[in-house]
Amino acid sequence: RSLYNINRWGAKYFDINEAGHVVATPLQEAGASVDITDVIEEAKGRGLKFPVLIRFQDILRNRVESINTAFRNSITEFNYQGSYRGVFPIKVNQLREVVEEILEAGKPFNFGLEVGSKPELFAGLALQNQIGSLIICNGYKDAGFIKMAILGQKLGKKVIMVVEKLEELRQIITISKQLGVEPSVGIRARLHSKGAGKWAESGGENAKFGLSTSELLAATEMLKSEGLGQCFKLLHFHIGSQVPDILTVKKAVQEASRFYAKLFKMGFNIEYMDVGGGLGVDYDGSRSAFDSSTNYTLQEYTNDIVYYVGDVCNAEKVPHPHIISESGRAIVAHHSMLVVEVFGAIEKIRSGNGIHYTENEHPLVKELLDIRKNISKLNKLEAYHDALERKDDAHHMFTLGMLELPDKAKIENLYWDIGQEVVQSFKGQAYIPEEIVKLEDSLGDQYLCNFSVFQSLLDHWALGQLFPIMPLSKLNERPTREGTLVDITCDSDGQINKFIDLRDVRDTLPLHKLGTNGNGQQEPYYIGIFLMGAYQDIMGDLHNLFGRVNEVHVFLDPDEPAGYYVEEIIEGTTIGQALASVQYDENELKRRMKAQIDEAIKSDRMKPSEAMRLLDDYERGLKDYTYLTF
Ligand code: PLP
Repeated sequence: RSLYNINRWGAKYFDINEAGHVVATPLQEAGASVDITDVIEEAKGRGLKFPVLIRFQDILRNRVESINTAFRNSITEFNYQGSYRGVFPIKVNQLREVVEEILEAGKPFNFGLEVGSKPELFAGLALQNQIGSLIICNGYKDAGFIKMAILGQKLGKKVIMVVEKLEELRQIITISKQLGVEPSVGIRARLHSKGAGKWAESGGENAKFGLSTSELLAATEMLKSEGLGQCFKLLHFHIGSQVPDILTVKKAVQEASRFYAKLFKMGFNIEYMDVGGGLGVDYDGSRSAFDSSTNYTLQEYTNDIVYYVGDVCNAEKVPHPHIISESGRAIVAHHSMLVVEVFGAIEKIRSGNGIHYTENEHPLVKELLDIRKNISKLNKLEAYHDALERKDDAHHMFTLGMLELPDKAKIENLYWDIGQEVVQSFKGQAYIPEEIVKLEDSLGDQYLCNFSVFQSLLDHWALGQLFPIMPLSKLNERPTREGTLVDITCDSDGQINKFIDLRDVRDTLPLHKLGTNGNGQQEPYYIGIFLMGAYQDIMGDLHNLFGRVNEVHVFLDPDEPAGYYVEEIIEGTTIGQALASVQYDENELKRRMKAQIDEAIKSDRMKPSEAMRLLDDYERGLKDYTYLTF
């Protein structure tokens, strides 16, 4: 547990059982646990290939309930006079099954949706079908967007259009007049307070969205002059996703509450204060203000929002507005995990690699053998520098044609052996020189994993966001290797070499040595990448044409022998589909292959029977998964 800190980032949703397997407990203490290894076996039994994304639909439910309950607790504790109405920002995970589950779980809490584009609004209008349900429209809008929002209003929903720039308000007023409705308008304020962390640029004075103080005043003038002051229903701000430090939230809420109070006193009967997103997820379990963590709990977050809005309103003697928050990450991050299969490892240090040393070795080999033999007596840093020098000499000699391959192999092996001993000697010391830290990283294995960082973990590649990662079984055996994970894209960036740590960032992950079965084949070894439910699903791209991954949706069910069932399987992209997305027509591809095969038969390069078999393989292959299938 402590090796991978699962008891910290797992947030009671993930833990390790007695068999040494990772288990999920989607309802935290209240429900049954699901052994991930059982889900893997079931997926395999149903013919699914890896990578596979597992969604725990019950976690979504639990998250929606937790956030609503936390706000309700705070409202009671601080005797707050308004209510809480959350919305789910659909951009964080647009998958229909995810949104439907959230809306279903959110019904008792009047939970709504936030949309930021026309496609999201089109989805939201159809899914959010209850009278009075809340839809917040953020993002830049055109006439089509505004018309659809007004359609929602006519259908009895509470659709609030949040003005992101001043000209938008003019258009909202014009179109609403044409359609004969009074729009519900929100205004996004550009606060001085700015978040911290990787998404901090969403807030502050240079943010892409929102109205400055003078623009805000101009907007109020515009509304008043049109006789539409009563349409100003909501004040919104957003300081960026994944806010690590609660102080940022406190400051922003106070600043925005002052805006609300002053506007109220100017005669605008604003009903809602929308505090945006920002509620973070403790990806590394450190409960700190690191980028991948949060130094606050959910309850502390809701307490601070409710307390400060109430406090400022009391001081300004204005009514408490209803509070809306737009947390997406904190609702969906925990519910999905990716299972990737390791299909090999590149090991720098191999014991018993069949190299034998004799009396007559190359002088460089002899010198390195000497260093290795006497290492216990030598200054370790000096020994390392000497070994490094020999390795560099060997490289130059090889380039000039003065060193044979077997000698080069011996020199490299001895260098890594010495390097390992040197690294070992620094273990546990308070100060470790930078070059030894680098040496340790370079000694790590590379575990070859069947997945694409660009499809499944884009924020790790683009922003260095950390996700908890660990083996899914063998967890009652101590791992003996340290390694990084490399994917199957033909891109050196396609790797994971930064891992969570409570104090810092690790460059390697403790891993088990890959085992072999009786037939000499590698035993399956699966690694889980956790807390993947926010943003990653939609942002992934088709680099190397590796497509969407297979998915299984798991539901708890006490009547099932295993305590759960797999409700749905969504098959990942096929090779044909991936090619179609870049304009290759499947039939045209087949036709072109057939023409080449016919030509090969005609010119006797292939026998007809063999040619037809291969053509068949090609055609059937277009229906295959884009990832490696073992
Ligand atoms: N609301 C707005 C306007 C956003 O831009 C975002 C994302 O950055 C969110 C809500 C979701 O925030 P979070 O990722 O913190 O849940």
